[in-house]
Amino acid sequence: LNRRLDGLGTTIFAEMSALAQRTGAINLGQGFPDTDGPEEIREAAVRALRDGRGNQYPPGPGVPELREAVAAHQARFYGTCFDPDTEVLVTAGATEAVAASMLALLEPGDEVIAFEPYYDSYTACIAMAGARHVPLPLRAPDFRPDLDALRDALTPRTRLLLLNSPHNPTGTVLTRAEASAVAELAVAHDLLVVTDEVYEHLVFEGAHHPLISFPGMRERTVSISSAGKTFSFTGWKVGWVTGSAALVSAVRTAKQYLTFVSSGPFQHAVAEALRLPGTHFSALREDLRRKKEILSAGLEEAGFTVYRPQGTYFVTADIGPLGEEDDVTFCLRLPERCGVVAVPHSVFYDDPGTGRGLVRFAFCKQDGVLREATERLKTLR
Ligand code: PMP
Ligand code: GLN
Repeated sequence: LNRRLDGLGTTIFAEMSALAQRTGAINLGQGFPDTDGPEEIREAAVRALRDGRGNQYPPGPGVPELREAVAAHQARFYGTCFDPDTEVLVTAGATEAVAASMLALLEPGDEVIAFEPYYDSYTACIAMAGARHVPLPLRAPDFRPDLDALRDALTPRTRLLLLNSPHNPTGTVLTRAEASAVAELAVAHDLLVVTDEVYEHLVFEGAHHPLISFPGMRERTVSISSAGKTFSFTGWKVGWVTGSAALVSAVRTAKQYLTFVSSGPFQHAVAEALRLPGTHFSALREDLRRKKEILSAGLEEAGFTVYRPQGTYFVTADIGPLGEEDDVTFCLRLPERCGVVAVPHSVFYDDPGTGRGLVRFAFCKQDGVLREATERLKTLR
């Protein structure tokens, strides 16, 4: 393994899911729903496979029907306009979109500012591009971004802000005022911005404000999302990028040499999914809001301090009140102690000491599974 990837090892999500499988524990670690997405969209995938749509290489930028559906989705929810031919690119999930964006937009030695705790692929992709990751802390109890700290983190080498809202793992959703302030800073310092919006439809408090819709941001922002969370098909790996033709074309250049294309028949099915009525999106959100509450209340009863998220699949809990200190030890022993898997926060920080004592639980699971998990967690006391 080269020095750029030194220390990146196996992702924490794969490690924790393997632990869940080995021990038969309830997996509240890796964020994937235990109920598949809409039947009609699965049927659409079957039809595409059967009718031979997408069984051979789809077009490089993605099938036209999906690019049009992505553009229509952005217009419907955010009032933003993108040309499906030049300003939309289909990727192998948001993961590839992040990787291709970093590889396309960064020079070796550039600095990239991203919230800390951070989604693990960010550090890896920044490192693969030869750039340097500069963390911007979101700290308990409220995990808000500190705009003065952001200003202080800027240097002449700062090239790009990689921003995730709704944020994994804290569940922070940028307010309009915060998003607007970040946008102003990006414009003032002529920065590129890449936004990871995979949880855009999972907002329980406030609203999602895409940074690309703020003044001066259209030409400097690469906006990323995917079908995994919005339609509960994390295995399909259909994602997309929207932005100016110049930026999307740059990302596409890198993307061509990563996967070239992917998920042919699923692209057709996701096009249908993006056209689902508003009730799909609101029902999903309300469903997850209820699950968040079941898990959060159960964790509180079990003695954790709970930081309720404004969005996403995840709730963060402090293990201090249980007399525990080390999140990694706690998570490694949790399956044998009570048959539950969770993810330690400290893996999401440059200095693991910062996240020590915090644990992330996923609530994208059936209500009964969440209730059973919290009953088990109550035996820890
Ligand atoms: N970004 C964040 C913040 C995530 O939590 C995830 C996991 N879904 C991804 C990107 C990856 O998305 P995808 O599965 O579409 O590659
Ligand atoms: N995004 C999911 C999570 O944070 C999992 C993605 C993965 O396993 N790489 O749990």
